[in-house]
Amino acid sequence: MLLVIVIVAYTVPKLTDYSAAAVQKAAGEVLSALGDEAAEIESESEWKAFRDRWMARKNGILTQINDVWLKAAPKEAKREVGQQTNLLKTQVEQKVEGAKAWLRAPVFEVEHSGIEVLAADLEHYRLEKLQGVDITLPGVRRPIGAEHPVMRTWREIVSVFQKLGYSVAEGPVVETDYYNFEALNFPPNHPARDTQDTLFIAGQQSKPQRERLLLRTHTSPVQIRTMEKMRPPLRIVIPGTVHRNDPPDASHSPMFHQIEGLAVDTNITFGDLKGTLDHAMKALFGSSVKTHFRPSFFPFTEPSAELYVTCFICGGSGRRGAEPCRPCKQTGWIEVLGCGMVDPNVFEFVKDNGYDPRKVSGFAFGMGVDRLALLKYGVDDIQLFFQGDVRFLQQFG
Ligand SMILES: [Zn+2]
Repeated sequence: MLLVIVIVAYTVPKLTDYSAAAVQKAAGEVLSALGDEAAEIESESEWKAFRDRWMARKNGILTQINDVWLKAAPKEAKREVGQQTNLLKTQVEQKVEGAKAWLRAPVFEVEHSGIEVLAADLEHYRLEKLQGVDITLPGVRRPIGAEHPVMRTWREIVSVFQKLGYSVAEGPVVETDYYNFEALNFPPNHPARDTQDTLFIAGQQSKPQRERLLLRTHTSPVQIRTMEKMRPPLRIVIPGTVHRNDPPDASHSPMFHQIEGLAVDTNITFGDLKGTLDHAMKALFGSSVKTHFRPSFFPFTEPSAELYVTCFICGGSGRRGAEPCRPCKQTGWIEVLGCGMVDPNVFEFVKDNGYDPRKVSGFAFGMGVDRLALLKYGVDDIQLFFQGDVRFLQQFG
């Protein structure tokens, strides 16, 4: 039910009692009437009429109060009535101005003009407006979000290495040719430097090659950037987004996520690499997985290897019941990452910061987070991760 308040326009009464209490009471009635009228104002023109009614020099209510109360007051009460009407005048002026300020404010925000009485009046008006809202209607349901499967995998991998004492390092997604290729020992004509594979920023032709900007194709530039800033020993894990010039399909995306690791110290050996990654794989995929290293090649590691784990879907048998296991192509092994001992040529670029290749050694590894998430959650299309379809994503909630 909508409450309707009928406002009777205020007229200035003649005073018969000029005692302080009586004048105060009359002044209170003036302010109350003013508040009621202010609450009805809904437009600029209504406010102007309201202002003139109360403040016009000729016959405005303030002028009337002056005439009807002060001038008619007996001599002995003049001082008291004069003080009261002056105070009232100030209060009325503030209220009238306040009503204008409120008119410009959004409907459901109370403008705190500093005048308590006015604020109370406006609150009253606001509540009256709210009578039209049905508070018995059910509220708006706000769905609770869940961690994206790629981000969950990302966090799990990072946390395994953090527990081993690794720090998290990050770097820019828009990178220079120097950090993305040159300092990582990519030869000048390496195919990865071709626009077929790498997304370059436009308009860079006038710059020397090493300064040209591109979207980083791996998180490895952060290895160089971190070694420039921090002296050995160093243990870092580097999560981040990377880009390649690949058309999107079920197993490729022009944007994907990588996590790399780098450990540098004196006397780091391939045995340290194997032990660390074997531990990490067991922490990620379960203590029963076995690891297997196969020789490979990367420009920035020597020797290099690919790490395989026993298929965590079929347990290494290559079969799921009567069906062949597709994720491991029935081999019982799944390739999870690339790794190797840091190539001494890479250390040469940061030699001045304590990375003398004759004194320190290290290992590095890198893995695709999205691919591991695909395997882990049995998803067969990488595009599903980036389409933002709630029907897909809510399965991971
Ligand atoms: Zn399998």
